[in-house]
Amino acid sequence: MKLSRLGEFGLIDRIRRKAAPGRGVRLGIGDDAAWVEHPRGSSLITADLLIEGIHFDLHWTSLADLGYKSLAVNLSDIAAMGGIPAYVMLSLGIPANFDSGQVDEMYRGINRLARKHRVSLIGGDTNIADALLISVCVIGNPINQPIRRSGAQAGDDIYVTGTLGDAALGLELLRQKRPRQGRAVSQLLQRHHRPTPRLAAGALLAKRELATAMIDISDGLIQDLGHICTASHVGALIHQEKLPLSGAYRALAGKAIMRFALSGGEDYELLFCATPRHRKRIEKLGKLAGVRISRIGVCMPTTHGIQVLDAHGAPVALKAQGHDHFKKH
Ligand code: ADP
Ligand code: MG
Repeated sequence: MKLSRLGEFGLIDRIRRKAAPGRGVRLGIGDDAAWVEHPRGSSLITADLLIEGIHFDLHWTSLADLGYKSLAVNLSDIAAMGGIPAYVMLSLGIPANFDSGQVDEMYRGINRLARKHRVSLIGGDTNIADALLISVCVIGNPINQPIRRSGAQAGDDIYVTGTLGDAALGLELLRQKRPRQGRAVSQLLQRHHRPTPRLAAGALLAKRELATAMIDISDGLIQDLGHICTASHVGALIHQEKLPLSGAYRALAGKAIMRFALSGGEDYELLFCATPRHRKRIEKLGKLAGVRISRIGVCMPTTHGIQVLDAHGAPVALKAQGHDHFKKH
């Protein structure tokens, strides 16, 4: 079957079904990170691949930002399990015309974020390639039970950290090629170039056992909510006016103001579910973690599907459903 029909997630499912079973796998393919047992405990493991021309464009991305982001997106997957990142393996495919100063610049970005979260670079691989390619694997430690995508129940509240749509709008501004300046622009570009993995919030949710399901928003709110709904066998009702938008986003989003907040990728905020009994505790947790936490909707029975209502209670048409690397949009 053509990959454009199967789609990225259909392909992953096909790989999953044929994967050889092994020992000690508590959670394999299908969540933000795998969870494996070993004689002294257990680990979370996640990997991501970034390819020039697909995930980033060196015309407008500095190598330091790229290094930072390639680690940040992996740390975000550990955050989404409620874990603490510990080690990173980083492999590079480098075009022949690169020089050592450029590689140094990339590692400046990587090391900056690694230091911040006390993550150790412990290895990787280096090769020559036609385009720059960065493959990152992060290993982390779970806190209590890792928070999966699959534990949400109808009636649970749905929350997101931070604000939505900033990174995608930042990318849109870069693509417009018209150089724009100002504080709001640079805030959105910062969100695109240097996403913040929500490690403190993720770890606190796991420590206090407050979330029934969690994922990080890499491919857009609606698509990643879809992954929670599929894994948890629930539907979802989202109130559009409750989606948290930054001042910079409001200033620059233009007419289709909710477009990026609903479907734009790469925010790397956490999306999680929790029973309404925990509302107060979750409010407090946001303050402790230093991040805004917004309640945006509620889990429904699976037959309900995913529905977004506008401020008047009218259903919002969901066309663009986030990102799939193989499906044509
Ligand atoms: P995320 O967006 O959180 O990085 P993905 O959507 O990329 O997650 O991947 C979903 C799941 O599929 C993860 O468990 C990931 O490890 C697994 N996965 C992705 N690609 C492959 C592959 N080629 N072989 C095996 N597992 C894969
Ligand atoms: Mg993820």
